[in-house]
Amino acid sequence: MPSALALSAANLTSDAAVAAAKPPAPEAREASRISVSFEFFPPKTRAMENQLGQTIERLAVLQPAFMSVTCGAGGSTREGTHQTVRRIQSETGVRAAAHLTCAGASRTEIDQIAESYWTAGIRHLVALRGDPVHGADGVHQPGPDGYHHADALVRGLRMLRPFEISVAAYPETHAQAASAQADLDALKRKADAGATRAITQFFFDVDAFARFLDKTQRAGIDIPIVPGILPVTNFAKVAAFAKACKVGIPAGVHTQFEGISDDPATLQGVAASIATEQCMALRKLGVRHFHFYTLNRAELSFAIAHLLGVRAVHAEVG
Ligand SMILES: Cc1cc2nc3c(=O)[nH]c(=O)nc-3n(C[C@H](O)[C@H](O)[C@H](O)COP(=O)(O)OP(=O)(O)OC[C@H]3O[C@@H](n4cnc5c(N)ncnc54)[C@H](O)[C@@H]3O)c2cc1C
Repeated sequence: MPSALALSAANLTSDAAVAAAKPPAPEAREASRISVSFEFFPPKTRAMENQLGQTIERLAVLQPAFMSVTCGAGGSTREGTHQTVRRIQSETGVRAAAHLTCAGASRTEIDQIAESYWTAGIRHLVALRGDPVHGADGVHQPGPDGYHHADALVRGLRMLRPFEISVAAYPETHAQAASAQADLDALKRKADAGATRAITQFFFDVDAFARFLDKTQRAGIDIPIVPGILPVTNFAKVAAFAKACKVGIPAGVHTQFEGISDDPATLQGVAASIATEQCMALRKLGVRHFHFYTLNRAELSFAIAHLLGVRAVHAEVG
């Protein structure tokens, strides 16, 4: 008997067929409404698990388009990712998305993981190459018979099951890309392979995002580009990470965070204000979906979503 994989492969013979079959991003159906989504990482301890539970509960009432859960470098947190997405979907009813990285893994291994998500009722994957275990500067090693890049991963997943698939995009170019054009070409390949939407790396420079959006449109990339918003809780750490990822921080943002690292209340107010201002500017560009890197905390993401007009919907009692 032919396997499900072979049958699907026979049905999907070209990029055009894949593109025709791919479901539209659900948020695209209501163009005027602001929608949000939230990203978490799998907790390492019982205390972190409890805190994440509270965060998820608090943010679920905003009825996000989805909540996604990251996967550690080299797939190191796969079990935790699996448990957390299942928990989100069963306890809140919000659609959960699992990040799936292919670096260092074999194709069979990846396909088995994807199948286990499908069996568990998870229909949305964030398909990524991932970073080598030694970090973003390490040399990328695909697994034996593995997917070399995320476009191949997307193509493989689309042949396996009709998943909704998000991919990564880099408004200021991926740190290891040969050039901005090569990186744009890579995004186009991911869209053509069947991605539903792209979620961007965090950024602070709205003009850089606007230029990138323009380039994606001119390149014929027809999937929604969802900006990744990082509400800042520790500016020194964010600045170091931004440097490693080649994400620019405008001088004005540096100035606004100056001298408040030991003053949590002021820091929180400033962070909410900066991220809200960024989202308002993005709205003027036509953005309607915002993806928040929550770092497993609810307060800032909730406040910013509220300022964008997103309101909590509580279940009726009785
Ligand atoms: C929204 C988002 C979520 C993320 N979540 C996670 C996570 O959960 N876990 C994790 O470990 N990491 C995560 N990352 C980080 C991501 O895994 C790294 O940035 C990784 O280095 C690239 O992954 P990618 O899917 O963008 O790879 P790709 O799209 O494969 O691109 C990787 C690099 O290769 C280049 N490239 C692409 N195709 C080709 C080709 N055919 N030939 C030559 N060069 C090519 C690209 O220009 C780019 O420089 C996330 C990033 C984002 C933006």
